[in-house]
Amino acid sequence: MKKMRIGIGYDVHPLEAGRKLVLGGVEIPFGKGLGGWSDADVLTHAIIDALLGAAALGDIGRHFPPGEAEFKDISSLVLLERVRNTLKDNGWRTGNIDATVIAEQPRLSEHIDRIRETLGKTLGVAIGQVSIKASTANGLGSIGRGEGIAAFAVALIEGIKEQEQ
Ligand SMILES: [Zn+2]
Repeated sequence: MKKMRIGIGYDVHPLEAGRKLVLGGVEIPFGKGLGGWSDADVLTHAIIDALLGAAALGDIGRHFPPGEAEFKDISSLVLLERVRNTLKDNGWRTGNIDATVIAEQPRLSEHIDRIRETLGKTLGVAIGQVSIKASTANGLGSIGRGEGIAAFAVALIEGIKEQEQ
């Protein structure tokens, strides 16, 4: 029997003119992008927090503090890969991920499989272990007005070694 743990992650970033929109490491054609210190990839950030949370290793801000030059405009896939290695050092690997992106615009359905593939490769898991869903806020609140994009993620991680009984 392998050890298993679950974790949850949530993130939100504002949409701004003059930025690229990157979700799950994939650049999405759109007139605006997410503002933030890194590439502001809200989906990857939520997944990072879910993975760190599952391993009880703190949160993304602790591992990659905003304001540090090293992380300015960095691809969040680089951060995700580092988290994968941190988990490995602690005896964990990704079991599966399930995430929901909440964006009024743009339409994400045609990008979902490329996002799943990109995240799966970065995490070293099969595409079938990465579920990404797209939703909207149905016009309600700041996300509904298109002022930002939010993402929720859960992650299950499993112990690399068989647990001793
Ligand atoms: Zn973020």
